[in-house]
Amino acid sequence: MHEAADGGLARVRLPGGVLSAEQLRLLAAAAVELGDGHLELTSRANVQIRALQPGAPVELSDRLYAAGLLPSISHERVRNVLASPLSGLDQHSRYDVLPVAGEVDRLLCARPGLAGLPGRFLFALDDGRGDLASAKADVGLRMVDGERGELLLAGVATGVLVAVEQAAEVMVAAAEAFLAERAEQQSEAWRLAELTAGPKRVLARLRLGEQPTGRLGEQTGRGLAAGRLTDLVGAEVLVVTVPLGVLDAEQAAVLAEVAEQADTQQRPVLRVTPWRSVVVAGVVEGAVRRLEAVGLVLEPSSPWNGVTSCAGRPGCAKALADVRGDARRVVPGWSAASGRRVHWAGCERRCGRPGGEFVDVLALAGGGYSVDGVVMEVDEVRAQ
Ligand code: SF4
Repeated sequence: MHEAADGGLARVRLPGGVLSAEQLRLLAAAAVELGDGHLELTSRANVQIRALQPGAPVELSDRLYAAGLLPSISHERVRNVLASPLSGLDQHSRYDVLPVAGEVDRLLCARPGLAGLPGRFLFALDDGRGDLASAKADVGLRMVDGERGELLLAGVATGVLVAVEQAAEVMVAAAEAFLAERAEQQSEAWRLAELTAGPKRVLARLRLGEQPTGRLGEQTGRGLAAGRLTDLVGAEVLVVTVPLGVLDAEQAAVLAEVAEQADTQQRPVLRVTPWRSVVVAGVVEGAVRRLEAVGLVLEPSSPWNGVTSCAGRPGCAKALADVRGDARRVVPGWSAASGRRVHWAGCERRCGRPGGEFVDVLALAGGGYSVDGVVMEVDEVRAQ
């Protein structure tokens, strides 16, 4: 929970981005009954509910606990585990890392000392495609084949290969090594990269062998375009862009309905991505039409792909503009996806900005925006 200008703000962590249809319904109902009616998807593949009324947090906690979304009060802030959203679904996936993400979460919550990790500390499990590179996770694993992954520390490849059966244990041990090193350096660092020789020292504490090499192989870090693909067992998978990462109750209901009817094949159907979209696996016919009818985006050329924003007004007291309102007015007029990421921010903190390069659309005190440093009125803002 945080206090924001429009009331309480609750962040619900989803390790691996995995969410069931039932959990999505519960979150949407909680947003309507206790908050402002919307679910926000975050750059860490979590969900936020804003504008909670006084007293609502207790009721919300009870509901989340009952739905399995709050397994540990003491560790809630540190359950930051990303995983490749298409894991196990297509030919670029060398190994399905979602169960490993679940195991990292379970081990994290089982160790009392790890409740002391900074809330910014991040784990990432990359199924081999390199899509999580820009997250620069403190502790990562990138699968190199169907049995082993390379350990990444502060986004840097270590050259150390770990058998997948040991992966969760090694990753959690790396987090413990970070805490030990931080204590020894008498540092208040939130991230591994902020410690003096952080990756090298953590690796030495793990006693796994090699030193960081800085090699990173090919990593796209680009996220996912909206659209449809066929998975390895011939089922249809949808990548659904949620404009500005804000889901209303109707959109959430349709997503849950589509997920409920999907052919699960014993795998998670709904996966929230770090790019303000949701992957839905094994969908049945008619799903695209139903999702598009409520304003969700399945078109790869839609200008909404790659556009993100911070909360802006009225949710944030620091905001100089209603950035979401302005983006909703302007973006639909853009001819097509620019292929570049665009981030609208209400002030220089640029909360929620994507990793890597992006077009910087920054609200100005006197009105209008600076777009990569060029001042213009809101109606003149273009992704190009
Ligand atoms: S970028 Fe600024 S205006 Fe936007 S949410 Fe962050 S602090 Fe608020």
